[in-house]
Amino acid sequence: MTRVPGQYDPRWPIGLHNAAMANVLLIEDDLDIRQLMAQTLSARGHSVESASTAMSGLEVAVSGTVDAVILDLGLPDLDGGDLLKMIRAVSAVPIIIATARSDEREIVGLLDAGADDYLVKPFSAAQLEARMRAVLRRGTATDSEAPITVGDLVIDTGSRDVTFAGMAVELSPKEFDFLAYLAARAGQVVSKRKLLAEVWREPYGGSDRTIDVHLSSIRRKLGESASDAAYLHTIRGVGIKLVDPNR
Ligand code: CA
Repeated sequence: MTRVPGQYDPRWPIGLHNAAMANVLLIEDDLDIRQLMAQTLSARGHSVESASTAMSGLEVAVSGTVDAVILDLGLPDLDGGDLLKMIRAVSAVPIIIATARSDEREIVGLLDAGADDYLVKPFSAAQLEARMRAVLRRGTATDSEAPITVGDLVIDTGSRDVTFAGMAVELSPKEFDFLAYLAARAGQVVSKRKLLAEVWREPYGGSDRTIDVHLSSIRRKLGESASDAAYLHTIRGVGIKLVDPNR
């Protein structure tokens, strides 16, 4: 077996952050990459199913038995981007795109089409696991009414209260929706178009300026700025993400 140097080390320690064991579906036609990813995920306690074609993957993806899908874009029978749309039409299962292509516009398009996150090949076992954690955490967050904690930030979607390091933060209703939306997807980049569609409900109109104004106001309230960001990061040309700076 050809080993990709420095990638997908299955000997990673088990159980450090492994709060949730998941059934993961790998849709990837490259046997070596598939085996290495499967080893990595199994070593972290996940159970793994594999598919080497889009159509066989689709069948498993929509069966309701998987918690997350890792989807290669270059598949023999269908483009992964098209498969993404087919899965999304019938299922909300978290999907992480794994791509050798790093075209920014294409990635933004895939995030808008419903991908939850993406990895650019070659990626490390640590990156793979971090993305998995983030999408699985998001799944849990939307299922429960428990407040979302990201570092020192606690967002209670039930009472709509926000505290930062124990202090109440006063947000406008839209600022709250914006921050809660990012917090439910902590660690993941969310495109501005997706934010306009889902937070502002303006899928075809709306301007990035609207987002920028709210973003800078929230940053000010959290005591940070665009040039000195700890929690709220702008990924130029891609979108915005909320992160725990201590992780
Ligand atoms: Ca491929």
